Amino acid sequence: TVRTRFAPSPTGLLHIGGARTALFNYLYARHHGGTFLLRIEDTDRERSTQQAVDVILEGLAWLGLEADEPPVFQSTRQARHAEVAQELLAKGRAYRCYLTAAELEAMREQAKAEGRGRIVSPWRDRDPAEAPPGAPFAIRLRAPREGETVVHDLVQGEVRVANAELDDMIILRSDGTPTYQHAVVVDDHDMGITHVIRGDDHLTNTFRQAQIYDAMGWERPRFGHVPLIHGADGAKLSKRHGAQSVTEFREMGYLPEALCNYLLRLGWGHGDVEIVSREDAIRLFDIDGVGRAASRMDYAKLQHVNGVWIRAAADERLTAEVLRLLARRTDLALGTDAAHRVAALMPHLKERARTLVELADAAAFLARPLPLPLEPKAAALLSAENRLMLREVGAALADTDFSTAAIDAALRAYAERSGRKLGAVAQPLRAALTGSTVSPGIDAVLTALGREEALARIAAAAA
Ligand code: GLU
Repeated sequence: TVRTRFAPSPTGLLHIGGARTALFNYLYARHHGGTFLLRIEDTDRERSTQQAVDVILEGLAWLGLEADEPPVFQSTRQARHAEVAQELLAKGRAYRCYLTAAELEAMREQAKAEGRGRIVSPWRDRDPAEAPPGAPFAIRLRAPREGETVVHDLVQGEVRVANAELDDMIILRSDGTPTYQHAVVVDDHDMGITHVIRGDDHLTNTFRQAQIYDAMGWERPRFGHVPLIHGADGAKLSKRHGAQSVTEFREMGYLPEALCNYLLRLGWGHGDVEIVSREDAIRLFDIDGVGRAASRMDYAKLQHVNGVWIRAAADERLTAEVLRLLARRTDLALGTDAAHRVAALMPHLKERARTLVELADAAAFLARPLPLPLEPKAAALLSAENRLMLREVGAALADTDFSTAAIDAALRAYAERSGRKLGAVAQPLRAALTGSTVSPGIDAVLTALGREEALARIAAAAA
């Protein structure tokens, strides 16, 4: 049965490229009724911190991509990595290399001068008994010299390299620590990983990893190397393109289902479906839908997808998110009244927003204490004549029961009676109630504010 894994290095952020890799592994496992695992590749002890691990765990939890088993920490498996290296040594598939740093350097210089990239350690064929007693050594894989290493990649197709191109890589350093390639293979094997789906920046590593599997006589997993995410300009995604970590997108007000939906479509397609729920993604996802071309990040498209998911989200959830964002602001008075107003207006507010931040900005007026700050366009609407009108409108509204129907009827009647167009009544009223010239429908705003607050705002603007 299928077992996939996400194997991030804890470097301090969860990159959206990594999030997409996690998503693909998760979906592949779910689609095939398998298991999705997490391995934290924390062998670089200097760069790995608990905080960096937490960022990954929290990011995955937020995206709904939690692993089915507790995470495996690569750093805890060093003894096992060494054991496998010893096993390869015992099988004659690896050898002790006693080259000193200075000797290696000299060999590299010479290889470069001769236009060769590869160096061959003399210890491949030398008797280890010739080494000075107690001298430090690294363990190198005795890689095949003849033939080719061929990988049938699930995305890239058949990829091959002549074995003569690859040198005998170190699998265990002289200090006993494993190299990255070796640790990955031992861990994937021991974790029973059947499918390795990852960024295509790892494609060249795959040949070396395949050689270790072959040397151990282990069955290789299937590999699928997914093209990386690029910026809109085609360059590799970096800071200057904008946000690239999951945390940043969360802060910017993206919903996890929208980010997953967008990342899924970035690099995977199924006809022209654009909006894909998690259930549909599990049902439809397979590796043959992953394209071979690099995908380009399109922030406008992401905003669009986010807007669709905001409209699909439950009002209660959006209200909670918006209240959380508004609670951080010092210019608002966020009591229970304001919370009720936000909840009441949510069905209307969510019609236009593309992010939770936009949603919170659009809702902020509901929690503002009087006097309302006025946008310049709104201030311009509060002329002496219009303030007079607002006094009359306030009186007309005060006579209603403040139901939407009654408010609507009162405004229409007032417009007719005063010989004004409805818009000429509604716009100054909107300015008075919201401090702005854009908001949901005026009747919805009035009912959300409630009689007392609405009439107080009208009176304050009319004064
Ligand atoms: N730890 C590697 C990375 O973060 C991934 C290794 C792998 O997926 O095999 O790039």
